[in-house]
Amino acid sequence: MTLLRSWVETANSAQTPFPLNNLPYGAYIPEGEENPRCCVAIGDQLFDVHAAEADGLVDIDRLSIAGTGVWNGLMEYGPQIWAAFRTRLTKILAEGSADQEAAAKYLHPLESARLSMPVTVAEYTDFYAGRHHATNVGTMFRGAENALPPNWLHIPIGYNGRASSVLLSGTDIRRPWGQLKGPNDAAPRWAPSQRFDIELEMGAIVGQPSDGPISVDQANANIFGYVLLNDWSARDIQAWEYQPLGPFQAKATATSISPWIVTKAALEPFRCDTPAREKELLPHLRDTGPMLYDIPLSVTLNGETIARTNYNELYYSAAQQLAHHTISGCPMRVGDLLGSGTISGPERGNRGSLLELSWGGKEPLETKSGQRSFIEDGDTLALHGAAYGDGYQIGFGDCVGTLLPALDDPFKG
Ligand code: CA
Repeated sequence: MTLLRSWVETANSAQTPFPLNNLPYGAYIPEGEENPRCCVAIGDQLFDVHAAEADGLVDIDRLSIAGTGVWNGLMEYGPQIWAAFRTRLTKILAEGSADQEAAAKYLHPLESARLSMPVTVAEYTDFYAGRHHATNVGTMFRGAENALPPNWLHIPIGYNGRASSVLLSGTDIRRPWGQLKGPNDAAPRWAPSQRFDIELEMGAIVGQPSDGPISVDQANANIFGYVLLNDWSARDIQAWEYQPLGPFQAKATATSISPWIVTKAALEPFRCDTPAREKELLPHLRDTGPMLYDIPLSVTLNGETIARTNYNELYYSAAQQLAHHTISGCPMRVGDLLGSGTISGPERGNRGSLLELSWGGKEPLETKSGQRSFIEDGDTLALHGAAYGDGYQIGFGDCVGTLLPALDDPFKG
């Protein structure tokens, strides 16, 4: 696949994350207004789809697609309308388009735009589908012999998170208080988390509802698109609370997502296979085609790169995670968000969390901001990701958050 040229000149650069091939879905709040509007990114501009639709420029079967400030409405219409809408937008913004003059007035500079959540997150589930991460964390928490739980090679393990704590990139994160008990503590104590961490993940956004078990192929068809996702994690709270029901308050402070939903259609040229299976999967999870993506990912701490990995390091695809989620009859809804689990690679420099990078604090990282085992107050952590085609890239926009100090003890009299 090569670059699709646009009359928006900045979209034709090999450096822009947002060429015409991408057209990711976002939302912004115009200056002096309160309500968000749906938009797409093109080069260094956003295209106000809400306004263009209101003026009749992007009409698809007279459907109201961009009216609500989030993209759940488009998702509900299903894959045929997703494709028709994308085709229409591509035609409007392509080089030589007859609509150029009419469309130019809907462009606004991205740099100064105030972005807003592109989706109303219905529910949030977080998986644990990265083998290197699960092995590293398992080794630290339970020892090398018990690193991978016995179920891990047979099912994508997950837990039900909270949609209410999913935030847009750029929102500051407050260090949480919690109940902590280290291995040398005689009793649990109440304190701000001292081992606050990131998790480099990608989120899949479910674009079609289901009611009952669905196949891996149907699950893939139901996925609308992908975002970068940082599942902020308090490791000291997690270590004390996680058995037997899994993480709870350790993961409930915040989960940040990047501002643009990159569609499955834009990622199509970058599909790749899941890894060879050590244990044959049961029929409901079996691989039916390449459903991972080759997307280089990285983490920066105060602007300095501390890890590089790739989405294709996952053991289970988002389609397998979604299919597995439904086998009990669990209904899925438009806007459901599935976190992939932390995506680490085989080497130290490929680890997607500080817990792994510093090996639980035993091997602190040397950074330009000083030694780090976990996040310090004021640190800014960012996730970056883009798939690379022939002379263009499909970027996500960064997923950024700065850690603010804990508040004073909320229970001190
Ligand atoms: Ca996670």
